[in-house]
Amino acid sequence: MLSVHTSPLHQPGTGDAGGMNVYVVELARRLAAIDIEVEIFTRATSAALPPSVELAPGVLVRHVDAGPYEGLAKEDLPAQLCAFAHGVTQTWAGQHPGHYDLVHSHYWLSGHVGRLAAGRWGVPLVHAMHTMAKVKNANLADGDTPEPPARVLGETQVVRAADRLIANTEKEADELVRHYDADTGHVAVVHPGVDLERFRPDARGVQAGRAAARSRLGLPQDALIPLFVGRIQPLKAPDVMLRAVARLLEQRPWLRERLVAPVVGGPSGSGLAEPEGLQKLAARLGISDVVLFRPPVGQERLADWYRAASVLVMPSHSESFGLVAVEAQACGTPVIAAQVGGLPVAVRDGVSGVLVPGHDPADYARALYGFADDPERSARMSEAAVRHARSFGWDTAAAATADVYSAALSHARAATWQRRANRSTGRRPSA
Ligand code: UDP
Repeated sequence: MLSVHTSPLHQPGTGDAGGMNVYVVELARRLAAIDIEVEIFTRATSAALPPSVELAPGVLVRHVDAGPYEGLAKEDLPAQLCAFAHGVTQTWAGQHPGHYDLVHSHYWLSGHVGRLAAGRWGVPLVHAMHTMAKVKNANLADGDTPEPPARVLGETQVVRAADRLIANTEKEADELVRHYDADTGHVAVVHPGVDLERFRPDARGVQAGRAAARSRLGLPQDALIPLFVGRIQPLKAPDVMLRAVARLLEQRPWLRERLVAPVVGGPSGSGLAEPEGLQKLAARLGISDVVLFRPPVGQERLADWYRAASVLVMPSHSESFGLVAVEAQACGTPVIAAQVGGLPVAVRDGVSGVLVPGHDPADYARALYGFADDPERSARMSEAAVRHARSFGWDTAAAATADVYSAALSHARAATWQRRANRSTGRRPSA
């Protein structure tokens, strides 16, 4: 696997580390469990990192020197791709064709290195976009910087080069075909998973577990707790949650005594939603007393935040899937989410949560009233959320990915035989 711009060893929830990191780690671990050994190449971001680290049995992370260790922005990474590709192909394994059976690249930057490495080793390339510039640009938040044309071009080249593309949802598969001219037969849909061992309701049940998690986190027992989890960036729209909370308190001032709105996550990129920006916004809205800002936490601790919350709020402008939404549901917490990207798959509208078209804070405030006013409906949704999340195990995702690998390998083998047959009969290969 190739993950150039972010390491599977980084803490997700801040900077460039998010769902893709979790995806790579969990998928690799589950593939290793079904005897598909994985090596993950990533860029070294410190001189102190060893050349390789065993992440789990059968999963090795290899660090590649490419560019300065620190302070290299994601936007400057395209200039380091040659150095990265050189590093990958110069390792012992890279010098021994036959060591790898297949390359699986994540995000378009890795796709370019994947294309080169797969060609050199004579193996197929499977690629996962994770996010797409054209889709992102069509859904920009106010003040967000559009993705540059060079990324669109780069993505188009990777789509063309990949033997198989993995999309998170049918919608993403359709976008690959419509926006990037992908060959329909080469796109497979594999829903990401969730660690159902880590993200689960307390053994005593959702309500008892909520009480226990609230006391562990020092949160009030009888409060309405709308929770935001994720990287603090305009695209994730944490500002919409704050505005919705402000509106809720304007219309129901008596709730102020029993409302806490935690924001768990760290800054990512630049823009209005940087933490200080968000803190200033909370002050301007007059809700600093109810908003709690917390830095990113490990997933064990995160599960407690989900269990403690009354509802997770995910008002994102664009979301290729939205792991956070499924993790919260797996813990028994319903979700209010924007009706964008993969979120309609991650959340069952009206059953395990509520989907909101658009980003008007008034609509999110209305959805919040629903949770404040109708505890029975909330309890029903909690139970349904747990059931819904159970359909997203990583084991299922790994098995489906292994099927994609098999298809890519058979396709590549068939193409090799065809080339040989053409050579022996003197026929020109068809396009
Ligand atoms: N996450 C975490 N700690 C935090 C905040 C987030 O481990 O404090 C993880 C979270 O569990 C999830 C991932 O970061 O798996 C975010 O994935 P998502 O698909 O929701 O968003 P992305 O970052 O890919 O845009």
